[in-house]
Amino acid sequence: MNEKRFIHEAAREIPVRAEVDILVVGGGPAGIMAAEAAADKGLKVMLLESRGYLGGNLTIGLPILGFLGHKGYQIIKGLPQQFIDRLRARGAASEHRPCALHMSLTIVDAEEVKRTALEIMREKGVEVLMYVFCADVIKEGDNVRGVIIESKAGREAILAKTVIDCTGDGDVAFRAGVECRKGDANGGMQPPTLMFCMKGVDVQQLRDAIVQHPDRYDMDTMPPEQFRSGKFITVGLRNQIREAQEKGYQIPVARTILITGLADDEIWVNMTRVNGVDSTRPESYTYGEIEGRKQIYEVQRYLKDFVPGFANAHMEKVAPFLGIRESRVIVGKYVLTADDILHDRRFPDAIAVAGYPVDIHHAQGGDCTLYWCDDCYDIPYRCLLPKHVGGLLVAGRCSSMDHEAMASTRVMSTCMALGEAAGRAARLALEAGVAPADLDVATLREELRRTGAYLRD
Ligand SMILES: Cc1cc2nc3c(=O)[nH]c(=O)nc-3n(C[C@H](O)[C@H](O)[C@H](O)COP(=O)(O)OP(=O)(O)OC[C@H]3O[C@@H](n4cnc5c(N)ncnc54)[C@H](O)[C@@H]3O)c2cc1C
Repeated sequence: MNEKRFIHEAAREIPVRAEVDILVVGGGPAGIMAAEAAADKGLKVMLLESRGYLGGNLTIGLPILGFLGHKGYQIIKGLPQQFIDRLRARGAASEHRPCALHMSLTIVDAEEVKRTALEIMREKGVEVLMYVFCADVIKEGDNVRGVIIESKAGREAILAKTVIDCTGDGDVAFRAGVECRKGDANGGMQPPTLMFCMKGVDVQQLRDAIVQHPDRYDMDTMPPEQFRSGKFITVGLRNQIREAQEKGYQIPVARTILITGLADDEIWVNMTRVNGVDSTRPESYTYGEIEGRKQIYEVQRYLKDFVPGFANAHMEKVAPFLGIRESRVIVGKYVLTADDILHDRRFPDAIAVAGYPVDIHHAQGGDCTLYWCDDCYDIPYRCLLPKHVGGLLVAGRCSSMDHEAMASTRVMSTCMALGEAAGRAARLALEAGVAPADLDVATLREELRRTGAYLRD
């Protein structure tokens, strides 16, 4: 009997926990920036987060990619750069290191990200509420007027004049009835990865192997010279994976992706991969988490046996959760496409500039396709605005992009810039007494420029 069963949930009174001006849901890279940008001029801003810390994917051992564009100059500035400056003052972030494949990488310390994000929220007077899951929305007609949260305290309402969805999965937008889509034409989504950290790595040995024997220790796109000094990401060593697979090692990916940490002997490994996972279905996310955890031990065995520098390394820690590359995105007033990216398209309502390649980890198999624009492209404000639902902005990886475009915009520098733009837009719209969709974009662009964000002339 496969028929779905239902029960009736009785209507009930829900206590209103808070009433705020701007409510940001999700405290990842987009949400932190959105809350910081929104909090000004005495507005009451609240940030909700389901986990016990802020940072989202900034805390799973990933470098921030894409602060620099193809031509080497900086295209993400403003609040994201200020965040890095604060980390750097504590020795908790690297420089923006240019990279032929990733444009740039910026290594950050996860614990300092959590600490710094909370400090900023405190300084800006943002009320942070953790351990609450946004489970539904409150609507008046076509406008979002708040959300319903679930926690150990039960079900509560938070009313807001404007809500910004920074959940990565578009949870608020989906509940509000905003049209959402997932994946490519067949629904295939980029697979998730459980990151883990190895310590005791002889990084110099790895550098020497790549620089001195590039034919054997192959790298995709990146010249071996790039590995001589400084922080790096390897994307390659396909030879080593093939050899290991021929000897029976179960490696789910075609490329060895290793990221130097802030400590000299630390490497973060981005090599588990669980195809077919949908993070919006708990049974699927659970399966992914369990499979990812199984894979890390085999990947570790591979590294020790085939990759220079790992013979005496040990596993230091596993990321706190399976990282999701792709799930829901909204269909907004404009849907950014790969064509826009590849043609370096400009938009009159641009609120951010990005240049990271379209980087699609295939939904099936273990490989990846990358293609690059020549310089950088604009992201229009309309990508943050749902088509038919008001009172809501959507920032981060669930903004309005098609499958290929989000494979570029998903990097954290861009998500941070989108978050900043959404926060400023929400505040400016309230100050002007208009809906976010009716905000004069020139005012938003002017404020972004005035406060240090990069936009093209
Ligand atoms: C394996 C992997 C490798 C990647 N590699 C890189 C890389 O090297 N460099 C790079 O720049 N980018 C990389 N990315 C992409 C990047 O990490 C994400 O696209 C980016 O973090 C998205 O930012 P976000 O703020 O939109 O969402 P997230 O970082 O996912 O943050 C969303 C936040 O919302 C919270 N949340 C979610 N739902 C709810 C809810 N219903 N109620 C309350 N809170 C909620 C979450 O707990 C989380 O804190 C990678 C992604 C993955 C998965």
